[in-house]
Amino acid sequence: MTIAIVGAGLGGLALARVLHVNGIDAVVYERESSRGALRFTVLPARGRRRRPARAGNRADRLRQDAGRASLGPIARREGQDLRLLEPDSTLLLQEDTPDDAPLERPEVDRADLRNLLLDSLPEHTVRWGHAFESADNGLLHFADGSSATYDLLVGADGADSRVRALFTDARPAHTGQNVVELGIPDLDRTHPDLATMVGRGNYWVLGNGQSLAAQRNGDGRVRIYLSFNNTAQDWFATSGIPFGDPAAARVRLIDLFTGWHSRFTALIAACDDTVLPRSITTLPVGLTWPSTPDVTLIGDAAHLMPPVGQGANMALLDGALLGLALAAHPYNFPAAVNEYEREMFERTSAVGRQSAHVQEILMSPDAGRKILAFFQPG
Ligand SMILES: Cc1cc2nc3c(=O)[nH]c(=O)nc-3n(C[C@H](O)[C@H](O)[C@H](O)COP(=O)(O)OP(=O)(O)OC[C@H]3O[C@@H](n4cnc5c(N)ncnc54)[C@H](O)[C@@H]3O)c2cc1C
Repeated sequence: MTIAIVGAGLGGLALARVLHVNGIDAVVYERESSRGALRFTVLPARGRRRRPARAGNRADRLRQDAGRASLGPIARREGQDLRLLEPDSTLLLQEDTPDDAPLERPEVDRADLRNLLLDSLPEHTVRWGHAFESADNGLLHFADGSSATYDLLVGADGADSRVRALFTDARPAHTGQNVVELGIPDLDRTHPDLATMVGRGNYWVLGNGQSLAAQRNGDGRVRIYLSFNNTAQDWFATSGIPFGDPAAARVRLIDLFTGWHSRFTALIAACDDTVLPRSITTLPVGLTWPSTPDVTLIGDAAHLMPPVGQGANMALLDGALLGLALAAHPYNFPAAVNEYEREMFERTSAVGRQSAHVQEILMSPDAGRKILAFFQPG
């Protein structure tokens, strides 16, 4: 019985890992040509916090175990630090993580996590350079003309999943948010003043209609996300940002942040030549489909949410929980898929609603004060 997973993202790799430790083989088909070719992004875990995790159900226990144990070597405690400001530089909130704080919500660089999962799998598990195109009668077809058999197909192929189209017409829709990703390499050495300003974790400046988020990564790089809210899907084309000319793009972006304190535009000026447009889309909250015995979805393919800090967590949990369901019903894929989907639909609908709520706050006028109230109710 062959389990084929399409996509070597966090969800697909977590599933392959849980199957492997339970003695079940799976094949992961990934369109990228090699491990090194995978494009990593690490994004600010906005809106994620201040709600103590319940220890009640299996998903919560898995999440807590991951935080405490297996992520230990790559988890960054200080990454939990947060500074929240307004465009005129008013500091609304500063939270510094004590050195002995529990590893409850550590930041983990995606590249580290993906490498950890890849290293935990037998060499042959991931078949690189296999771009899935379609499936019929137990056969997968790839862009290079090759094919492979499957008994269970798991779509872990992210936001623009092709596997999803096998059983639903649902497509991601634009949220009205467009983000430009930039970055400063080796911040401590190259710009010590800005390094002190940003701190060790997340640094968010929330204005009316625009925001700037800076996030430390473990390799010394700081990623910067500039968000433009309530903008049209084709906004990048009309924004006047010349993405092909990074220096001119930075000048235009600084121009778009006119009126903001000069310490924030200094961050944009210090960025290197990475200037990436990211149009933010989501699937309908609570998307479900009639259970199909030999195909299912995990991660963004199943429930693409606004990027407020839950997507990767949900993808990992989906992979782990589907893996456990398959281990519990190794000869009955339909029962395993059914068990997994029932829990996943309920869990991710609730998280999707919360993420949509946080996204609404972030995109509203006076977002800084509102998000402060969200973190510190009462
Ligand atoms: C701006 C932004 C900020 C975010 N911030 C956070 C955050 O702070 N915290 C958080 O938890 N999440 C965050 N997310 C969400 C997070 O990135 C995703 O939810 C997570 O990566 C989903 O994992 P996945 O395994 O489902 O999909 P992906 O990580 O997208 O992996 C999909 C894999 O499938 C492969 N693939 C795609 N199509 C095919 C094909 N046809 N054939 C073969 N392979 C294919 C891709 O190459 C990729 O390797 C953010 C997202 C965005 C856009």
